[in-house]
Amino acid sequence: MAKHAVLGALAADDTFCGEIRYDEPLSRHTTLKVGGPARVWVRADSLSALAAVLSACRDQSVPWFVMGRGSNLLVADAGYPGVVVTLGGDFKQWNYDPEAMEFTVGAAASLPRIVQEAFRQGVAGLEFAVGTPGSVGGALRMNAGTRSEWLGSRVVRVTSYKLGTGLVSRQASDVEWGYRHTSFPADEVLVECVLSVNPAEQALIRAKMEEKLTRRKRTQPLDDASCGSVFRNPEGRSAGALIEGAGLSGARVGGARISPKHANFIVNTGGASAADVKALIDQAKQKVKQHYGIELTTEVRFLGFPQQA
Ligand SMILES: Cc1cc2nc3c(=O)[nH]c(=O)nc-3n(C[C@H](O)[C@H](O)[C@H](O)COP(=O)(O)OP(=O)(O)OC[C@H]3O[C@@H](n4cnc5c(N)ncnc54)[C@H](O)[C@@H]3O)c2cc1C
Repeated sequence: MAKHAVLGALAADDTFCGEIRYDEPLSRHTTLKVGGPARVWVRADSLSALAAVLSACRDQSVPWFVMGRGSNLLVADAGYPGVVVTLGGDFKQWNYDPEAMEFTVGAAASLPRIVQEAFRQGVAGLEFAVGTPGSVGGALRMNAGTRSEWLGSRVVRVTSYKLGTGLVSRQASDVEWGYRHTSFPADEVLVECVLSVNPAEQALIRAKMEEKLTRRKRTQPLDDASCGSVFRNPEGRSAGALIEGAGLSGARVGGARISPKHANFIVNTGGASAADVKALIDQAKQKVKQHYGIELTTEVRFLGFPQQA
């Protein structure tokens, strides 16, 4: 099928609520600044636009992938031969109900923005996420947070969109929430959630957020392009300490480097390819296995690789 034929009817439709680009470099849409082109990149600004895109993908037998802010993604240098769907417009909206003490948030809203808004409203519960980049949709899918505090524990309900079914609403208890794990089906796009917060002294919220941010700045390479932690921490261990112990702190392949500040971060020092980053991931896995007999598992999601490692 000719490249521009994919979603061609939508691209030609002036009333389409969003944007469609062909051969869009995904390095522009990932925090690692790595990744080849998407055959088609689409921003859907409304539910009807999202429905139209997914139904065109089904009719044209083209695979699709939903991307948030690309802060937990490694995209292959060859890019993605399907449609990358991202949410914007209506999905960026949010509101706060002070009586219910609940935020209703669209999946395209920025998580840091909602954390700041909770602080501004003087309500607690989201401070753990301060400094975690990404969209609310990506954070829900990944159950963003730490081993002890994560977004799932604040969720009241989540709404997703499934082609052929429409909107699906789940209470938090209908979803499995684990350390960087959720049970959302892969063929659903998360579109909105309700998060609960609780009253607290603003000074205490500020103190907790400042403490977390200070720790992040001290321990993480925040000035460099990265995708955050590459590996999950094995039970009771720190992946960064294991990689450092295996002698890989500061190791380089091409433009990618295992951060000397935090060995669970791989940074793009300029011009890194996805192959460079993947080579470091493989080295870290291999060396940690050799040294400690521990099998590291990746937290970062892969897109466009032959095998989703
Ligand atoms: C400097 C830095 C620090 C970080 N610190 C943390 C941290 O402390 N804790 C933590 O958990 N993470 C951390 N991360 C990782 C990342 O920010 C989070 O995982 C974030 O929640 C991912 O959101 P995103 O919108 O960027 O998702 P993406 O990276 O775009 O996507 C991640 C996954 O979510 C899926 N997804 C995205 N949107 C939707 C949607 N609407 N519906 C269904 N699926 C969707 C994607 O398909 C993909 O599988 C950090 C990253 C960086 C760069």
